[in-house]
Amino acid sequence: MTSANAPYVARDLAHVWHPCTQMKDHEHVPMIPIRRGQGAWLEDYAGQRYLDAISSWWVNLFGHANPRINAAVRAQLESLEQVILAGFTHEPVIALSEALTAVAPPGLTRCFYADNGSSAVEIAVKMSFHYWRNAGRTQKRRFITLANSYHGETLGALAVGNVELYKQIYKPLLMDVITVPSPDCFERAGGESCADHSRRKFAAMEAALAAHAHEACAVIVEPLVQCAGGMRMYDPVYLTLLRAACDRHQVHLIADEIAVGFGRTGTLFACEQAGIRPDFLCLSKGLTGGYLPLSTVMTTDEVYAAFYDEYAKLSAFLHSHSFTGNPLGCAAALASLAIFREDRTLEANRALAAHMGARARELEDHAHVAEVRQRGMIVAIELVRNKATREPYPWQERRGLTIYRHALTRGVLLRPIGNVVYFMPPYVITPAEIDLMAEVAREGIELATCA
Ligand code: PMP
Repeated sequence: MTSANAPYVARDLAHVWHPCTQMKDHEHVPMIPIRRGQGAWLEDYAGQRYLDAISSWWVNLFGHANPRINAAVRAQLESLEQVILAGFTHEPVIALSEALTAVAPPGLTRCFYADNGSSAVEIAVKMSFHYWRNAGRTQKRRFITLANSYHGETLGALAVGNVELYKQIYKPLLMDVITVPSPDCFERAGGESCADHSRRKFAAMEAALAAHAHEACAVIVEPLVQCAGGMRMYDPVYLTLLRAACDRHQVHLIADEIAVGFGRTGTLFACEQAGIRPDFLCLSKGLTGGYLPLSTVMTTDEVYAAFYDEYAKLSAFLHSHSFTGNPLGCAAALASLAIFREDRTLEANRALAAHMGARARELEDHAHVAEVRQRGMIVAIELVRNKATREPYPWQERRGLTIYRHALTRGVLLRPIGNVVYFMPPYVITPAEIDLMAEVAREGIELATCA
């Protein structure tokens, strides 16, 4: 009997070119057409349900078809779906800017909008460069970035990122950046604490700043977790040191919290754990509760003032996207922030995070698990061929794909990054669903490492 999914799969494969996919894989990897979502679950046309353990690419916070966010978007739809944001404004974008200013690290008072994460990174990069130009520092035109970082896939965002898989082929098109070793604690020496490792790794950043401050606009980092780089984590002390050094060397700090923002690391923003305020804070993904494409770059009055002048000086920031600050997206974002307040989500998540971590750590003794690491609502399990030497499995073996496929048969959406299995679920997940997620991950890891 053919599955009720089959007609959708045939139509899809005839015309849709999917992201981050070798399309030939779909000769043997199933394409799954989703009919509806409800809470932490997705359902296909054949009625099979999948627990969304990765929040649909790290965007969803409060479940699919969340009644409160649905109602907010529906109400907004009745009055205004979209309007040009140059020369015009609307209540949702005003209210969202006020709300974000109230919850972001103090001093981030200006919100510039776009419609996806990569564009937010492009904006922060251009704004930083342009700020220094407006200040007469025209020699400042380079960016400092961390090894293994990821900031998106448009050309500027790709240039300041460092995941070879995505970057290698396009290098001839990309601006040259200064790359500093990552503080990634997976690489710490035996017996060394994560904080000591991150502090030690800061020496390379300090040296890069000393050598390049005259020509550097900004340092860009993913605070605390390098997500696309395999959920590699580092200690907040690195950010505290980085903030002080950026001030000392007169270089901006761009915090890309597109993935880690909105509670993923346990605090609303990861920067809070280091007690710092970046010069630019990039937000997207969870900004709308994962509902709609929206992003923002938050910055300071000081940066804003550097662009504020007579028109003829040509110092304005002229960057624009058609859907900048879309009202439906803003309405979803306001509803999502209201849920954080009303449900005390960050507090509630502590118990979920503790349960998720405890279940994942049961795998620590596994012969092919090198590390189980956690920061708030992000848990990662790193698989290796040799536990003693930490020799990784060659990427060509695609062990993660075995886990992905197994999990689908068990009704869980796990999508390992290389040899790293991770959980980044919506905050509506229940302890019983966490148990299922952990159990299926364990089965998948057994299957993928048995030969
Ligand atoms: N920065 C980070 C840290 C991300 O994780 C991502 C997306 N995975 C991006 C930027 C790019 O966002 P988008 O996919 O919306 O362009």
